[in-house]
Amino acid sequence: MYIVQIASECAPVIKAGGLGDVVYGLSRDIERRNHTLEVILPMYDCLKYDKIWNLHIAYEHLNVPWYGGTIHTSVYCGWVDGLQCFFIQPHSNDNFFNRGCYYGNNDDYMRFTFFSKAALEFLLATGKRPDIIHCHDWQTGLVPVMLFEQYSWLGMGDVRVCFTIHNFKHQGVAGKDILWATRLNNEPHFFSYDRLRDNFNPFGLNLMKGGIVYSNHVNTVSPHHAWEARYTDVSYGLGHTLDVHQSKFNGILNGIDYKTWNPEEDTHVPHHFSIDDLSGKLKNKKALRDRLLLRDEKKPIVAFIGRLDQQKGVELVHHSIYYCLRNNAQFVLLGSPTGREINEHFWREKHNLNDSPDCHLELGFDEDLAHLIYAGADMIVVPSSFEPCGLTQMIGLRYGTVPVVRGVGGLVDTVFDKDYDQFHEEEERNGYVFYQNDRPALESALERAIGLWHHYPLEFQKLQKQGMKYDYSWKRSGQEYIDLYDKIRHKEEVVEDEG
Ligand code: ADP
Repeated sequence: MYIVQIASECAPVIKAGGLGDVVYGLSRDIERRNHTLEVILPMYDCLKYDKIWNLHIAYEHLNVPWYGGTIHTSVYCGWVDGLQCFFIQPHSNDNFFNRGCYYGNNDDYMRFTFFSKAALEFLLATGKRPDIIHCHDWQTGLVPVMLFEQYSWLGMGDVRVCFTIHNFKHQGVAGKDILWATRLNNEPHFFSYDRLRDNFNPFGLNLMKGGIVYSNHVNTVSPHHAWEARYTDVSYGLGHTLDVHQSKFNGILNGIDYKTWNPEEDTHVPHHFSIDDLSGKLKNKKALRDRLLLRDEKKPIVAFIGRLDQQKGVELVHHSIYYCLRNNAQFVLLGSPTGREINEHFWREKHNLNDSPDCHLELGFDEDLAHLIYAGADMIVVPSSFEPCGLTQMIGLRYGTVPVVRGVGGLVDTVFDKDYDQFHEEEERNGYVFYQNDRPALESALERAIGLWHHYPLEFQKLQKQGMKYDYSWKRSGQEYIDLYDKIRHKEEVVEDEG
């Protein structure tokens, strides 16, 4: 098959969180299965150019229709670890991708609407006719809309679309100007509740909803989160839309790239280790302590790695720091704050805890340090309020770092409580799970994990190894996507009315 991924991130060149990992890992897996794969990305000024091999111009003068005129755009091509990537670079005063950041601008919906339009124009102009376009999150929600309504009439009628939702919270609610910009001219048609009109904001167009309505298949990133999206409030207002389109909606568990995340050959960490010999992990713990100026004491290191956002349970993250410090454990946090208040809060905490020999808070994004933390910590805490899939617990498992997680979304599909899991035999359990979104629940799980480390070290090591045995590579999920692509390739598209 010929598959094109259109996304706003792809690790390691563009990575703000899990989306980048997933686009990269899935693409690598698809290629390994001998399918043809290309990735189309925005050419942000802040992407990691040193990770792209042989960057050259692939299409110099692409005129992308935009409002009443066009935007002159160039498309570059380069290889990222063997993946062929195309980068969209518009030349206009809007400076869509020259902002020194990936997201967070007031006109994000315009920036990514342009990106979606330009990606389709590029495919059209170069005669590329993939079997499948796989697009991701609201940033590319307009791709299937424009494909069906505009480009299918221009010879792209056989292209099918899979749309993956990595996070329902961010839906891209925009004004009607995106219709004028993209020349989706029939306003009553698009601005209707069974197409793009937001279910709750009567003046808004919802790009994620457009993606759901117009794609041949929609999925989110774990089976349990797919269930939650249908039957609880975590789809943030899209429940009815999912209900209407339920026949083409499911959950496919993310994987992690086992070459990037491999304790036996990770180039970011000083000591390698494996399930048969964990001594390197202990040495990495020492290296982590040296790097972060923590004291060398007989204590476990509990870590948190992630965006510091309400979704990640920041209040419980904060609480775990102090709980661990009071209960004979050290704490390491690597977090990228997402809002002003959270940022200020954690900078204050960092200042308060600056002299603690048992704690280090690192605020910002640091891929290198993340690897060392996974390799050197004993436990990783993931107290999310909701979590579509979550990668940090899977990476933790791969590195023998025992996950302590809240039982939501993909965490339910991947972590099985050592003491209480009812569906897995004892030797299949791999971590600790709590359910209530409150401090006592978190404490009960942390207490059990820290207690096991101190009082039953051999049992703790057994638990680490049980986690390392799990295979959360792309092997299984990659095959699921391939089967799915194959299925939708042979199907006619229908845009169902919501009624
Ligand atoms: P998200 O909701 O952000 O996508 P995931 O758990 O799915 O969360 O994926 C997070 C990915 O981003 C992991 O690879 C994790 O190691 C990485 N990550 C998150 N925050 C940071 C950070 N501050 N520094 C380095 N890596 C980070």
